[in-house]
Amino acid sequence: MAMESPARAQQATGETILRTEGLVKKFGQFIATDHVEIAVDRGEFRSIIGPNGAGKTTLFNLITGALPVTEGAIYFDGEEITSLSPAERVRRGIGRSFQISNIFGGLTVRENVRLAAQSMDRDRYSFAESLFKPTDRYDRMNERTDDVLSRIGLRDVADERADALAYGDKRRLEIGVVLATDPDLVLFDEPTAGMSAEETHATIDLIEGVLVDQTLLLIEHDIELVMELSDRITVLNRGEVLAEGTPEEIAADQDVQDAYLGGMTE
Ligand code: ADP
Ligand code: MG
Repeated sequence: MAMESPARAQQATGETILRTEGLVKKFGQFIATDHVEIAVDRGEFRSIIGPNGAGKTTLFNLITGALPVTEGAIYFDGEEITSLSPAERVRRGIGRSFQISNIFGGLTVRENVRLAAQSMDRDRYSFAESLFKPTDRYDRMNERTDDVLSRIGLRDVADERADALAYGDKRRLEIGVVLATDPDLVLFDEPTAGMSAEETHATIDLIEGVLVDQTLLLIEHDIELVMELSDRITVLNRGEVLAEGTPEEIAADQDVQDAYLGGMTE
């Protein structure tokens, strides 16, 4: 089961890229996120684990802006982003993989990647710049698209319709669509859910092989995989951070043992 990820050689840099402060999310009276404080380093591979209903997906929704926060603050790249729109957060460099749903089946592979690069480009440059440099922008977008297609290994099938792709290639395209938005941080919510062991490993290898420069935040239920991959792990339980540390620290943590890992670690 050992996995090699030579491409993703770099580790956490010690510089914080994402930080939350007293983050609270209530649904009516129910507290789904309870004063969560996390800090993720640039370049880190961080996993978020915890039982069903612990608030993992809710935390992601707060970070991406899919849900408004009830209390607290979120900082990205040193700036507060708590109230920014989801689109503005993408622009700032927060990418999220939505799995199959972010692919347009009727478009070609190239068109899918280009569309993502284009939406980013349109947002990132000012109206004035967009008027003055149309050809530069066009070239830049084509370059970016080709670069992404190469990095996800889909140049040969670039002109095929996305819905005609084999399963593994669809997964590649999903990563490509995220990569095309030029993210610094990418969030994955159980990307391997429902996959066989083989598909799971192929997907993780792909994520690590393609997103070599990105900080990764992964929600994953496969503990063995999480222990193997993560620089650090955050354990959520009932909306609260129960523990945080290296895989070794988490495996040895008594609170985590009691509340969550239980018999899983013998
Ligand atoms: P996890 O991803 O860790 O399984 P979630 O973040 O999806 O947990 O959910 C945490 C808790 O918040 C659950 O009890 C869930 O029912 C509740 N919850 C999530 N989203 C909503 C919502 N939109 N409205 C009401 N309750 C919600
Ligand atoms: Mg979830």
